[in-house]
Parts: sequence; structure tokens; C-alpha cells
Amino acid sequence: MGNAITPLSLSLTPDAAGFFGKYGGSFVPPPLEAPLAEVRRAYEVVSRSHDFIEELRRIRKHFQGRPTPVYHAARLSRKLGHTQIYLKREDLNHTGAHKLNHCMGEGLLARFMGKKKLIAETGAGQHGVALATAAAYFGLECDIYMGEVDIAKQAPNVARMQILGARVIPATHGLKTLKEAVDAALVAYVQDPINQLYCIGSVVGPHPFPMMVRDFQQVVGLEARDQFTEMTGNLPDIVTACVGGGSNAMGIFAGFIDDPVELHGVEPLGRGPNVGDHSASMTYGREGIIHGFRCYLLQDDKGEPAPVHSIASGLDYPGVGPEHCHLKDTGRVRYFTATDDETVEAFYVLSRNEGIIPALESSHAVAHAMRLARSDPSQPRTVLVNLSGRGDKDMDYLIARYGTGEKFAL
Ligand SMILES: *Cc1c(COP(=O)(O)O)cnc(C)c1O
Repeated sequence: MGNAITPLSLSLTPDAAGFFGKYGGSFVPPPLEAPLAEVRRAYEVVSRSHDFIEELRRIRKHFQGRPTPVYHAARLSRKLGHTQIYLKREDLNHTGAHKLNHCMGEGLLARFMGKKKLIAETGAGQHGVALATAAAYFGLECDIYMGEVDIAKQAPNVARMQILGARVIPATHGLKTLKEAVDAALVAYVQDPINQLYCIGSVVGPHPFPMMVRDFQQVVGLEARDQFTEMTGNLPDIVTACVGGGSNAMGIFAGFIDDPVELHGVEPLGRGPNVGDHSASMTYGREGIIHGFRCYLLQDDKGEPAPVHSIASGLDYPGVGPEHCHLKDTGRVRYFTATDDETVEAFYVLSRNEGIIPALESSHAVAHAMRLARSDPSQPRTVLVNLSGRGDKDMDYLIARYGTGEKFAL
């Protein structure tokens, strides 16, 4: 267990230019080419370094509290039929979500590279909080770029980042949200790539980030495979996870990619299939380029990213990780959707029946597992859900709109 960075099967590794099939690559302006090449070379070295891997293992155990458990949701399963639902409890990872897995990896890489500062953008603030945590742990400076509009909306996460010692820098142009924050962070990175490392928050962006973030998240799948087979004597029939950029899904899928296990990604269908009402990139997108990589992209006629929506702010991104696009085309992973309404039901049902309040992002995957259970096939199945985070952050929003959720009683 805990093989930090075991190389994956060749079917998963991108080619030397960072392509997974026709997706991924590195489409960046010239000033970013040299800094990205430096990151690639450094990652090649550390991913084979005994010291780096040992240090990351130690951090995961003693700081993050890994391994996180796999839990059999027996009460929920019984109420829904014969399907047995299991949860990989990333909500119990330090800071309450899977994001810290790759932020600690990126922080350790920065230390090996001799960098002084971690920088990133954040939308709702979850990636910013995880990265600020890593920076505090490693004693590095941290600048988080955030749209002015998001800063006003996400006061608790802004406070968390500042308490952790990060500077939250407002992006004040354009719509003043995530896209502008990405622009601002990239400008800052190009200005000083010697002292700073840019840390991406999912399996997206130019090579090597989709590969590197997947490798750091792979611990989730490797742990879960060991834990599940020890608990049940078998592999799960289906492994499922929500897909925004796709890091928690790639993490758990990576552990089962060579096994006879169905892998199901779940995209946010929001209010429905009309443009602007969802962020289901692989279900409704077409090939395009965003933030330096090629993927299925929700876009308008001019190739500009389309407006997106999800009740879960961590999932509303018009692109998706390139490896997912390739896994969809090859048929190894199937992609489904869950609406906001299905997600809210799953949030309350899991809370009431198991005593676990899930993040709205993760609730998409729970909703899919519930749908599988209700379809009740003659053969009882096992479904392993990556519960990517806890729902404390979503409480105010849900209480204001749905109350305490009595109407969702099973
Ligand atoms: C950010 C976030 C996600 C979405 O990111 P992925 O890269 O798609 O995993 C999912 N769940 C939680 C709890 C998050 O914070």
C-alpha cells in the first residue's frame, strides 16, 4: 500500500509531448515554454527519486492522515436494493478533500526545485486553501490569484488562505472570476519563474501537469484497491467518481485501470442540457484548446469557452483533463451525468442514512451510485464511490434553499 508514485501501465502514460491520444499537449505562449520544460525535467528526476517518494509517503501518513478508509454504506445500500455501495473517504483527508494530495506533491517538488513561492489561481477557493496549506507546511510563500467577484462570494475560504499565510491577490479585469484569475496567475508566473512554481489544481493545463497531478492522486486508487479487496475478497464491479477537471476521478481510476472493473465518470448536468446550464464537457463538448491543452471543450462558434454552470462550484469548468478524453474515446471509461436536483437528493440521503455530509461535487458520484442501485439488476453488484470531499463548505447554500432536507427521506 501507499506506493507513492509507481509508474502506471503504459496505456496511461502520455507520449513525450504530453499527448493522451490526440488530447493534452502543451499549447502555450513562448515565455512559458522554458519554465514548463524546467518543471518537466524536475518531475522526471523526482518521480524516480527514492528520497522524494519516501518524503511524500511520510507526509501522507503523518500530516495528511492517510490512508483514508474505505467504508461500506450498508444502511444506504439496504434501503436502495441489492447493490452494495462503498465510499473511499477522501473527505477524511486533511483539509477535507482530495486536493491536498496533489498540492503536497507540488509543494515538495517546489522544495526540490529550490523555489521560494507557490502560486495558483482559485475559483471558489478550494484549490487555494489546499495550496496555502501545503505552502505553510513547507515554509514557502504563497500567492493565490482570485477574481474580485469570487473574493466577495467566498469570504470564509479567503480568510482560511490568509490565516494560513497566503496572499490573496484580486484579479480585477474582465468578468473578475476564474478565467481572469488564471490570466493573472500566468502573467505573474512568467515574470518570475526562477523563484515561483505554478501549481495547477486538477489534471488539466499543459504537459506535464495532467500526468503529474494524476500521479500524485493515484494514491487514492492504490489504497482503495487494497482496502476493498481486503474487505470483500474481490474487486468492485464498478468504480465511480465526479469529474470537474478530473483529478479525483483519475486518482481512483488509476488504481483499477488494468482490472476487469467498470469505470464511470460523472459530469455535472446542472439545470439541464441547454448551453450555459451545465458543465458536462465530455457529454456535450467538442475538441478545442483551453489553458494550454487540447480536450473536449464546451465552446461557442468562435471556439471561445462557453458559459458553464454547476451547483458544485468545483465542477464548473468548460474543459476536462486530456486523459479522460482519451479514456472516453477508447471506451475504457464511460461518462454519465447527474443534475443539480439529483445531486441535492444524494447530499441529503447520504447525510441522513450514513452520518456523512458529502461535498456537492462528490454528491454527483453518490447520485450515480444511487441510480445504479435503484436500477436493481438481478446480479447484486458492488459500487465503489470516490467521496472526494466533505460538505461543510456547502451547508449555508443548501440550508438557505432546501432547509434541513426532510423531503428527501428514503
Ligand atoms: C475541486 C473538487 C472537485 C473537482 O475537481 P476534480 O479535479 O474533478 O477532482 C471534486 N470534489 C471536491 C470535493 C473538490 O473540492
